[in-house]
Formats: sequence, C-alpha cells, structure tokens
Amino acid sequence: MTRKIAFYGKGGIGKSTTQQNTAAAMNYFFGKKVLIHGCDPKADCTRLILGGKSQITVMDTLREYGEDAVTVERVVKTGYGGIKCVESGGPEPGVGCAGRGVITAINLMEEMGAYTPDLDFIIFDVLGDVVCGGFAMPVREGKAQEIYIVASGEMMALYAANNICRGMVKYAEQSGVRIGGIICNSRNVDGERELVEEFCARIGTQMIHFIPRDNIVQKAEFNRKTVTEFDPDCAQAREYRKLAEKIINNDHFVIPQPMSMEEMESLVLKYGLLV
Ligand code: ADP
Ligand code: MG
Repeated sequence: MTRKIAFYGKGGIGKSTTQQNTAAAMNYFFGKKVLIHGCDPKADCTRLILGGKSQITVMDTLREYGEDAVTVERVVKTGYGGIKCVESGGPEPGVGCAGRGVITAINLMEEMGAYTPDLDFIIFDVLGDVVCGGFAMPVREGKAQEIYIVASGEMMALYAANNICRGMVKYAEQSGVRIGGIICNSRNVDGERELVEEFCARIGTQMIHFIPRDNIVQKAEFNRKTVTEFDPDCAQAREYRKLAEKIINNDHFVIPQPMSMEEMESLVLKYGLLV
C-alpha cells in the first residue's frame, strides 16, 4: 500500500532539501518507489531529483494549454532512482490564490491515476507559513496521512510548526491525518536539540531525527543533486539514510496538542531565544 506523507514547514527551513534527500535515500538504500508532489508555488521541490531536466507545472500547463493537456506524460517527470516528480505550481504572481493550485493539481493527479498503486511513498512538499485552505488541503481531505514538520531551534520555525499543528487538529478526527514527527534541520542554534526535543514532548510527538547542517548539502545542490547521489558514503548521506529508515519503520502517529501562545513564549524565554 502506498503511504502518503507530507513535509510541512516554514519557507526556507529546508523542506525541499530534506524531502528530496529522504526520497533519494529511501530509494538508494531501501529500494523504495517514490513520487514527489511539490505543493509550493515556487515549484522548486523536485530540482535535485530531476538534475537539469526542466519541469512544467500542472498550473502552467492548465493555463497555457487547457485541462485536456494535463497528462501524466506532460506533468510527471522521472528522475534519480526512478523517482517520479510533479510540481503543482501556482497562479501568476499577484493574481489569485496560491493555495488553489495545490487543490487543483492533487485532484487532477488523482483523476489521471498518476498516483499508481506500485508506489511505496508519495511525498507532498507543502509550504507551511500560510495556513490558508489550499495549503491545508492535503491535511483537510486526508490526501496525506502522515505529516512530518521540518523545523529548527529558531523561534520562527517553531512558531510555524506549532501553527501547522493547530491547523492539523481541526481536521485530524475527520480525515485521519496524524503527525509522525518533527525533523530538526539544524541551524546550529545553542541548545537546539534540547529545545526541539522539549517542543516535541510538549505537543505530544517525537523528534524523529536531527539533521546536522553541512556544507556538502550546498555542494550537492550546486551540482543539482541530492547528497545521496552526489556522495552516498559521506556522513550527511548517512543522516538522510537514518531519517529515511526511521520514516519507513515509524509507528508513532498522533494528533498533536499544539501549545498556546503563552506556553510558546515561555518556552522561547527558557531557552533564551531572540527573534
Ligand atoms: P524550503 O523548501 O523549506 O523553502 P529549501 O529546502 O529550499 O527550503 O532550503 C533552503 C536552503 O537551505 C537550501 O538552498 C539548502 O542549500 C539549505 N539547506 C537546507 N538544509 C540544509 C542542511 N542540513 N545543511 C546545509 N544547508 C541546508
Ligand atoms: Mg521548498
């Protein structure tokens, strides 16, 4: 059975980097079949998997050629490790709602049968700053069953993670969506591991893995590759392998209990974080 998982988190936190590296590790080390569905209007969720290949988004195809033109051949590209990639895209800048693209694209993918049953994982990469209806859709309608939130020990990342949990709680009962853990993508903040672990304990989930900050990520990115493809034997590739393995074997799925603003503030004060 295909597991549908979503990576949420604040913009720039490292969702796409972490998600693509996890997908690559799932395939390379564990032989899993993966499809990545990018749900960020920036449409840069699959670049490392596709290398140089250009990818036309679902929304661009729709706008330029009409609904009939949206076919699997056109919008689903195959990259490293046979990983299938699709990008929702968004409206023209300044026009319309960015979240709508997410809804339209996921519905079209389902109608076309693009989420084939041979897949082990479908990974949605979703922007989590704006918790408007569109970005909440994978959660609201149970399109994703497991949520992983990418965060760090920076205050804004934790506020965003807490907000995403607040959005989830509203729909968890009806859609069955559960949080599988927080991925700490380190920013080398003092006391980061402890802070993120405490945050996770307070909201009732686990810190599923701590990904160190490492320049090899940028080096690989410069070559348009995941770390696993760039150098599968390096230390950072081992971290993504561990994260992939933990997700594959995960059985800790809960409805989060988000913190109140007062609790968030006292946590932040306890660790002496500044804005
Ligand atoms: P998001 O998808 O959340 O907007 P990205 O995945 O695009 O964020 O990450 C932003 C930048 O951070 C990337 O260009 C990447 O090089 C860098 N980055 C992410 N994770 C790491 C890491 N663990 N070590 C070093 N650099 C990282
Ligand atoms: Mg991204």
